[in-house]
Amino acid sequence: MGDERRRYLIQQMELGGSEVVLERGAAARAAAPAPTPAPPEPGAAAAATTPPPTPALTPESPAQAAPKWKKGAPPIPGPGLTIEPPALSLLAGDLLADLESLEAVAKVIRVCERCALCASRTHAVPGEGNPRAGLVFVGEGPGATEDATGRPFVGQAGKLLDDIIAAIGLRREDVYIANVVKCRPPQNRTPLPDETAACMPFLRRQLALLKPKVIVALGATAAAALLDTRKSLGELRGKVHTYGGTPLVVTYHPAALLRNPNWKKPAWDDVRIARQLLDR
Ligand code: URA
Repeated sequence: MGDERRRYLIQQMELGGSEVVLERGAAARAAAPAPTPAPPEPGAAAAATTPPPTPALTPESPAQAAPKWKKGAPPIPGPGLTIEPPALSLLAGDLLADLESLEAVAKVIRVCERCALCASRTHAVPGEGNPRAGLVFVGEGPGATEDATGRPFVGQAGKLLDDIIAAIGLRREDVYIANVVKCRPPQNRTPLPDETAACMPFLRRQLALLKPKVIVALGATAAAALLDTRKSLGELRGKVHTYGGTPLVVTYHPAALLRNPNWKKPAWDDVRIARQLLDR
């Protein structure tokens, strides 16, 4: 078995895929616990595993003619909540309504003082990715590595997100990755309601500019903020919600998956639903 294919299959197993057959040695290596403890991430006390390296597969490669992620993928579920995000209005004094590019929004975010989180940040983390992305992932807020670098999802949870993106046949540079709050909450605590309220206009403007085909909310904070709901993650998963006309799928936060690997299989189903929506 080629290295690339073996890495891909190991990754499928990590994500909970039940239909892959691994060579004995590869299976043992995949099952072995990783020795390195991960730094704390937003929404997670510690990482349980180190994800395998990202395979260099692209959706167009011949091996992907019948994409692996499609095998055993659940059907697209029925509708959930529908939300029309509040329009940003220049008349209401929100200058973001006037920003016509992601970079213009990022510039404002980097010097933002709309809430107290600006006092403790090293770098604001506006988000990054393909401005023409069909798929947008939304997380909760920056952790330590993100605060240090100004980039979203570059810590342990970010490595797992990279693997999830690769497992559905995409590359990080194909998608866009953003957060509900753009500055790190102290000790990676959940953002407070006033912090979320102050920061959401940035995310709304980013989504309005991106016009993605699908949004994936990573975890309860992102789902609650985007869908303006207090429903639990359990109630929100397994449905296709609509955010301003865009299909939105809710799944576990990667940091939660590192804490609880049992959730990898349902998360794998969620992202395969998102992938099918992207292909529609
Ligand atoms: N967790 C998040 O929610 N966002 C990040 O950018 C990193 C970790």
